[in-house]
Amino acid sequence: MDFSLSDEQKMIQQTVHSFVERELIPLEREMMQSEGKYSTGIEPELYHELQAKAKALGFWGINTPEAYGGANLGAVMSALIAMELGRTLVPFTFGGNADNILYYGNEQQKQEYLIPTIEGKRRSCFALTEPGAGSDPSSIRTAAVKDGNHWIINGQKVFITGGNEADFTMVFAVTDRDKAPQNGGVTCFLVDREMGWTSRPVPTMGGWSPAELFFENVRVPEDHVLGEVGQGFSLGMQWIGQGRWLIASRCVGTSERLLQMAVDYSRQRVTFGQPIANRQAIQWMLADSAVEIQATKWLALHAAWKADQGLDNRHEASMAKLFGSNMANRVVDRVMQVHGGMGYTREMPIERWYRDLRVTRIYEGTDEIQHFIIARNLLKGYVKIGAWE
Ligand SMILES: Cc1cc2nc3c(=O)[nH]c(=O)nc-3n(C[C@H](O)[C@H](O)[C@H](O)COP(=O)(O)OP(=O)(O)OC[C@H]3O[C@@H](n4cnc5c(N)ncnc54)[C@H](O)[C@@H]3O)c2cc1C
Repeated sequence: MDFSLSDEQKMIQQTVHSFVERELIPLEREMMQSEGKYSTGIEPELYHELQAKAKALGFWGINTPEAYGGANLGAVMSALIAMELGRTLVPFTFGGNADNILYYGNEQQKQEYLIPTIEGKRRSCFALTEPGAGSDPSSIRTAAVKDGNHWIINGQKVFITGGNEADFTMVFAVTDRDKAPQNGGVTCFLVDREMGWTSRPVPTMGGWSPAELFFENVRVPEDHVLGEVGQGFSLGMQWIGQGRWLIASRCVGTSERLLQMAVDYSRQRVTFGQPIANRQAIQWMLADSAVEIQATKWLALHAAWKADQGLDNRHEASMAKLFGSNMANRVVDRVMQVHGGMGYTREMPIERWYRDLRVTRIYEGTDEIQHFIIARNLLKGYVKIGAWE
């Protein structure tokens, strides 16, 4: 067994690390002051300038196939990069990527949606959740009815990340009430904003807002079905599945940065004549955090490694997301505690992370849904306890 990174992995990791230190961390103060103003956390022009800078360093299209000009670095490398990017509050990602399910488009859809999204000229959003259907997407009510060579969509979506800024959406609608959603009842459509859907921000406890989307008799040409009619549910699950181990990876980076802050602060903060680092109460918080971060790191990398091997990693991805998101919430809480009153102020990024990290236990499958998936896999024998891979 070899846990070491290759020279190439180390080099990429180090370059991203320096980019985060040099370009992103210095923007955090401004970002905290302009909370809620930009969906990109910082001014969009600056965000795109940074993406261009990163592109010049070769960081573009991390997960995009070479055929589309991407670097296609694979899942393990993506996880390592997400860990580095997670070290900053700035919600930065490298350019040149598109939603995995857009690759299911036909040639015309690839020209119209996939390639412009990769190039950063168009912005997508993934619209599955509804006011009455979150954890259980099989109960979505948004419906599409055939009318000649168009579909007419009616319904409402909620909590859609990027939905306020997107110029098109991948929206999921019931197209056949006689079939189960998992079995051909749901279809995914590519729908431009100009076709008539509208959006409204949903304020949250985090730094920016997802959107509510409204579809009122939105007419969509029939060649805007993504994949096949009835394939929507499986496309939706594919989109959701790939984010889980990346959320865990990002949590690793955030928690490492927070832990470092706690280590530094505890060494210099003196109470009753001694640095608080000398107190066992503080040491245990640091030690527990270090152990849990390390555990998440291996969970996330194992899930990523399985993806790179072409193996089914859904069980591992759920375990990584469940453990990693809870770990990050525990770590930020401890780090705030170590900082005392300072941790609670808006002078430091801790309180913002305390709020922002909470959603990692909710989106892309709540804690309870991850527990459910993991337990189902065990009880139904889909995975073998103790199996190596
Ligand atoms: C900031 C943010 C961004 C998001 N981005 C997107 C996006 O881009 N696109 C999109 O489609 N969706 C998005 N979502 C929606 C997200 O995926 C859902 O909020 C999530 O799946 C939970 O659904 P819900 O909110 O309807 O909660 P519910 O499903 O109503 O669940 C409520 C509670 O009941 C629990 N629960 C539900 N079922 C069970 C069960 N069977 N057993 C035990 N407990 C259960 C849940 O875990 C939760 O604790 C986003 C959400 C947020 C907050």
